[in-house]
Amino acid sequence: MEKDAKIFVAGGRGMVGSAIVRRLQAEGYTHVLAPTSQELDLMDQAATLRFFQEERPRYVFLAAAKVGGIWANATYPGEFIRNNLMIQTNVIEAARISGVDKLLFMGSSCIYPREAPQPIKEEYLLSGPLEETNKPYAVAKIAGVIMCQAYNRQWGTRFVSCMPTNLYGPGDNYHPEDSHVVPALIRRFHEAKLRGDDKVVVWGSGTPRRELMHVDDLARAALLIMERYEDDLPINVGSGQEVSIRELAEMIREVVGFPGRLEWDRSKPDGTPRKLLDCSRLEALGFRPQIDLRQGLTMTYQSFLVGQGRM
Ligand code: GDP
Repeated sequence: MEKDAKIFVAGGRGMVGSAIVRRLQAEGYTHVLAPTSQELDLMDQAATLRFFQEERPRYVFLAAAKVGGIWANATYPGEFIRNNLMIQTNVIEAARISGVDKLLFMGSSCIYPREAPQPIKEEYLLSGPLEETNKPYAVAKIAGVIMCQAYNRQWGTRFVSCMPTNLYGPGDNYHPEDSHVVPALIRRFHEAKLRGDDKVVVWGSGTPRRELMHVDDLARAALLIMERYEDDLPINVGSGQEVSIRELAEMIREVVGFPGRLEWDRSKPDGTPRKLLDCSRLEALGFRPQIDLRQGLTMTYQSFLVGQGRM
């Protein structure tokens, strides 16, 4: 990527997109477009195409998506499949029509089969049944990956996909039910600490394992993939830092400084038992994650406090 090339970050105001924008700016890219969803509604096909034809970006990071935790996926399954199919189809098609040089589509580790052998290799995509709790989201993301491959074959585009592991970091959604586990627990422990509660409720059994990556590490990987990765097969982006939900909850309890105990609500779903990514391909490109989990959680709690106006 040339430093003055026009780069469009779709979803540039979300957690992932804004981390990519920060990284691009830090590396001296001067022409980064990141309109808000009010300025450009990516669910609107005509508006999306118009934007591409007027702006003519050369590189596109497709980080726009409807995302949410296990509860949100179960509650709004229609929106998860519809919004994601619409957004990614509009962007990928407009990128083809307007002659974008290269596009990076953000998939997700949850699109691999539920019972995939661990660590999960890219080849395991579509080799078995999906986890039920996020199937509509996963099917939409799988369609995006296959669409990029099909476009490359038919139209000679350079549209690649990556599969990030579970992400966390600044700019996350802290909604009590709809969010992912890290922001949900940061908020719950923080509020319990302020109220002086003696316990915090955590969902499920605590036994599922998740690999967690700070979004700034993902952003570094995304730039590297945009520069160096040309294969049709998606590329995994993980941190290698896998913990059980129980270990994660304990760590967040310590970071927030909540002195009470944990209580497990087993009526809530556990989801996939484990999804650790095999990142050999990414390592072969020279990538090493830099942010350790405890350090990343501490930074994220600081940014949560700033967002709450408590610092
Ligand atoms: P997933 O990786 O798609 O399952 O995404 P989540 O981040 O929503 O959930 C990860 C794991 O954390 C699941 O096993 C949840 O049951 C567990 N978990 C524990 N407490 C919470 C919570 O308060 N919110 C969410 N979203 N998950 C929680």
